[in-house]
Amino acid sequence: MSGTVYLVGAGPGDPELLTVRAANLLRRAAVVLHDSLVSREVLALAGPGALLVDVGKRAGRKLLTQDEINALLVAYARREQTVVRLKGGDPLLFGRAGEEMQALREAGVAFEVVPGITAAVGAAAAARISLTDRRLASQVLFTTFSRGAAGPFPEGANWSAITRETTVAVYMPGLHYGEVAARLMENGLSAETPCVVVSQASLEGQQILRLTVGALSDELRLPAPALLLVGWATGAQVRGWGAEFRPEALEPHGAAGKH
Ligand code: SAH
Repeated sequence: MSGTVYLVGAGPGDPELLTVRAANLLRRAAVVLHDSLVSREVLALAGPGALLVDVGKRAGRKLLTQDEINALLVAYARREQTVVRLKGGDPLLFGRAGEEMQALREAGVAFEVVPGITAAVGAAAAARISLTDRRLASQVLFTTFSRGAAGPFPEGANWSAITRETTVAVYMPGLHYGEVAARLMENGLSAETPCVVVSQASLEGQQILRLTVGALSDELRLPAPALLLVGWATGAQVRGWGAEFRPEALEPHGAAGKH
């Protein structure tokens, strides 16, 4: 009789942003297979007897392939009652959960998904941005700039659906901010469109940089993980930004640390 695999969201990093269910499962898990993105503070909540396996780091020389991770999940589930597969943010966003759930289904292993606060939402909270401020945005696009070299989208995501009323959350912008800006402008956004880079949202080193799409450049050096939020709603709280809507300035321009 196999145990259950729990695909658990670890949130953006601050352990207080975990769900109660995630914290309870961590406490009782026999094995925790986690990505390198998961913060030390969150991992510290695992029980003293738990085996922690970093499946995102180099194991020996090479990275574990997705097939190897899937096989590990199945193997541990056959030995242990409670196996936690811990992913940064929410497990169902940019976390390869689709492949893992398929492997578990095929192996006949029971699994459950425990949602987490995704980076875009954690970053928006840190920068106090209403992603769907109804005066400026009508939709949110969760997208990524990382290109799947071996995957189905070698050229990267299709951004043709972006409009002036879209708030765009770019996961994994890497260090390619200049190229991200060029692609956003190719897809119709003006250079004046406000944007915010949130580095290490909810963690000790949190940094928030407010600028415009035209000012994004590869010179930006903010520590990973970082997320880029783009769109008029991201500038709504800053004086002078937002074409039709100019509220009182609540924050100064430029970088702000964690409060
Ligand atoms: N499943 C995760 C995303 C994994 S992809 C989620 O739902 O959040 C990894 C990307 O998430 C990083 O490259 C970065 O863009 C973003 N990210 C994760 N944690 C972050 C944090 N604390 N601050 C800023 N960005 C973060």
